[in-house]
Amino acid sequence: MPTKKRRIEIPRALQAQVLFASDRICCICRVKGKPVQIHHIDDNPANNDFDNLAVLCLDCHNETQIRGGFHRKLDAEQVMLYRDDWLKQVSKTRAIDEGKELNEAKAQNLKKEINAWLLLDKAHETPDNNLLEAESFVTKAALPPDVKQEEHRQLGMRMAKAVILNIARYDDLDGSTKYLGQYNEEDRSQLIRSAGRYLEETVLHVTSPDAEELLYLACVYGYQRRFVEMMRTIDKAINLDGAIREYLREPLTLIALLSACGSNRPKIDRLEKWIGMPPVKKDAFCDFIKTFDLKGFFGYIKWIAVKKPRAAGKRGVFLSMIAPQPNGVVWAFSEMIENRTTEVAPHSIVSTEELYDAVSHSFILICPIKRGYPYL
Ligand SMILES: [Zn+2]
Repeated sequence: MPTKKRRIEIPRALQAQVLFASDRICCICRVKGKPVQIHHIDDNPANNDFDNLAVLCLDCHNETQIRGGFHRKLDAEQVMLYRDDWLKQVSKTRAIDEGKELNEAKAQNLKKEINAWLLLDKAHETPDNNLLEAESFVTKAALPPDVKQEEHRQLGMRMAKAVILNIARYDDLDGSTKYLGQYNEEDRSQLIRSAGRYLEETVLHVTSPDAEELLYLACVYGYQRRFVEMMRTIDKAINLDGAIREYLREPLTLIALLSACGSNRPKIDRLEKWIGMPPVKKDAFCDFIKTFDLKGFFGYIKWIAVKKPRAAGKRGVFLSMIAPQPNGVVWAFSEMIENRTTEVAPHSIVSTEELYDAVSHSFILICPIKRGYPYL
């Protein structure tokens, strides 16, 4: 079997130019109003030269695809002749028939359209550590409503992901800790605001939203501390696809959702119940630590925990960092996730049971982070 030639999508600015030059009319039959497509004259879908592109209606396009038989194929040479003739005719008609003003207006519109596509291409090429720049490209592009909505949806998703990942870090092989996040506090707030706006616009108000999109919106609500809207969104996502619960229990997602609960026990209980997470009991906590596979493991065993309302220090979502020592004892401290400060003085070396009593005095324990989870 011949290998299929790789299709390289025709840049949208070029598409606009090709369609404009042909007046959106098939260059072969020249029937106005028929749906058209852009055809690669040499049949190589990777060759996007302007000279290799012709606007054809579906019928005429079929004629170019005939293989064998009595019917004569519309070959490349003929398409080229028809195309060149038609482009000449279109530009002549524009010059003669229409007033100069109308032509100028058309040319202006084309310029606007091409600029819009170029800006969008820039937005798509912007890496996720500079989404605010991507946003400014999308905002500047003059877009038709349906294109605008799709762009906002994509931007909202990318921004939500960036915010969720901003707190993520990983332990490097040399033992140092590196962060995935790139955004400072100010940019992060801006991202949360924009992500919320775009996702509300495109996910909440469409008739058939997708469970994954709702999950991202729920996380954004979490960081905006909008508990009621967050729970409503989670409910919608679960109704749409029950399997999404698993993703809602992912540590990074969970931290976003917990942010909306504060230290409020009933809110945390409700969230845990909806996403199918049982409250932590002492024996489950101790078992997890005692049976943790420590072979070749050099980090801390981590638990997500929320500060209790009456405990000392700042409120928020914490990581309880536990380092097992020889002879079954552990050493531990707690670290606030938001600013990575160690607020609670290290607990001295204690048994696992004593650690549970000490930690659960100040924290609501949420869940452990399994070995192999790449973040946090
Ligand atoms: Zn045609």
